[in-house]
Amino acid sequence: MSSVKFKYQDEIYVIQKLVDAVNALCKDMGKSCTCTSGYRSLEKQKIINAQKLAESKGNYQVSSGAVYNSKGQCIAAAFGASNHCFCIAMDVSDEWFKELTNAQLKKYGLVKPMDYEPWHVQLLEHNGISDVQKEQIRDSVLKGVDKDMDVKEFQAITGLTADGIAGPKTKEKAKEVLQCCQGILGIPNFKTAEELIKGTQSSPDIWLPLLKVITYFDSFLMNIYKKMRGE
Ligand SMILES: [Zn+2]
Repeated sequence: MSSVKFKYQDEIYVIQKLVDAVNALCKDMGKSCTCTSGYRSLEKQKIINAQKLAESKGNYQVSSGAVYNSKGQCIAAAFGASNHCFCIAMDVSDEWFKELTNAQLKKYGLVKPMDYEPWHVQLLEHNGISDVQKEQIRDSVLKGVDKDMDVKEFQAITGLTADGIAGPKTKEKAKEVLQCCQGILGIPNFKTAEELIKGTQSSPDIWLPLLKVITYFDSFLMNIYKKMRGE
């Protein structure tokens, strides 16, 4: 089916309504396209602005980070100011897409706000929204992205007192959860050295008799196993 694909996986965090609108357009046109730029983190924007600056000799950058071409047109927004940073813009560089006019896009609730960037598309409803509204959209789209669970959150979801301190009860719960996670991930849970040898060695018969001969061989194996599991 015709749809839009993202070129970079770290840029897929774009408001779903915009992606849906571009997909509806693709479906009607019977053509797929590639989003060459979607969400930009500040780090990514710095890289892109540096690339834009280097593209042509006449291009120049101002202190805000914005890059202009020799005609004085802004070709890369100030750091943190691009609508790409707020998850409300997509760049689609396929030729057929660049040829589309705003009159054609209107039906899908889409607009190309800058006539000199025929690849840059946004939702019509985002025309003229405030920075606060943009921040709200960005925060809702990025919710949960790249977010590690901290001790407090772990305690909250496992029904412990959420004090953020990894005390004995929290550590005990972490062990329980770890076993559950290993089960989900299909990581075997060996309880004895015998189980470990049988489960991991292609010729367990060589090793099993050694358990009876070598003192502490079983403890030795289990200690290595526990270290590898992060216990
Ligand atoms: Zn753009």
